[in-house]
Amino acid sequence: MLTVQHISTKEILTKSKLPDADFVINPYVGCPHRCIYCYAEFMKRFTNHKETWGEFLDVKQCSKKLNTANLSQKTILISSVTDPYNPYEAKFKATRNILNELAESDARVEILTKSSLVLRDIDIIKRFNNIKVGISLNTLDDKLRRHLEPAASPIKERLKVLQVLKQEGIETYLFVSPMFPELTDFKAIVDCIGDTVSYYCFENLNLRGGYKERILKFISQYRPDLKSLYFDIYNNNMPYWEKVKNDIEEEFSKNNLKHKIYFYHDKIKKK
Ligand code: SF4
Repeated sequence: MLTVQHISTKEILTKSKLPDADFVINPYVGCPHRCIYCYAEFMKRFTNHKETWGEFLDVKQCSKKLNTANLSQKTILISSVTDPYNPYEAKFKATRNILNELAESDARVEILTKSSLVLRDIDIIKRFNNIKVGISLNTLDDKLRRHLEPAASPIKERLKVLQVLKQEGIETYLFVSPMFPELTDFKAIVDCIGDTVSYYCFENLNLRGGYKERILKFISQYRPDLKSLYFDIYNNNMPYWEKVKNDIEEEFSKNNLKHKIYFYHDKIKKK
């Protein structure tokens, strides 16, 4: 059962500490996609919600218009701690309204989502001079996806989104995140998607905070054979991720595809 409320905010833009964004916009607080690894759960600390993360959604309403003149050449990520195209966006259109305002600006906008609902907004997306859409996906196995991201779009729909956006001339990238050890087959994903996207980003699974126990419990049940590996990795994770990073580098040295690696959140490799 989801609790929905509308909240007013004075400022929809937030300055970003992320490496590739000057600002972020989160049209919602909370996210009904309920991914079991959701790192955004920490946002609950800043709300009065008693509900479990994933069971509340605050729809933001901004009291003032965006000052688009100040955003020239600034990079804005939509979104960092929610999915801008959660299923309730179909009704509330908070993201669509923000895009409508931003389309008047000269900002560089990046939309990041796990939802095929983004296709609804192709008409607005095409009005931007500089925009790209990232689709987040960490497996081609929809059975696994249903465990990890129960309310996000099925894998087939996300692959279709990439094809449609490419046909429409809209730049896309694939965010392979978070990479689950031995479950995320990045080579199969790259083979499947190829040059449909402009580039790939890879982010490893971090096990911090409340979701660490949840994920280890899931692995123990879903793939008991991987349980000891996960415990080893998360007691001493650098060697494992160093090898994955090298495997990615080797794979991309054989193709002409671009990639970025966001591992450990302290090293960024660009090509
Ligand atoms: S889509 Fe993103 S913000 Fe939403 S639950 Fe999943 S990881 Fe969290």
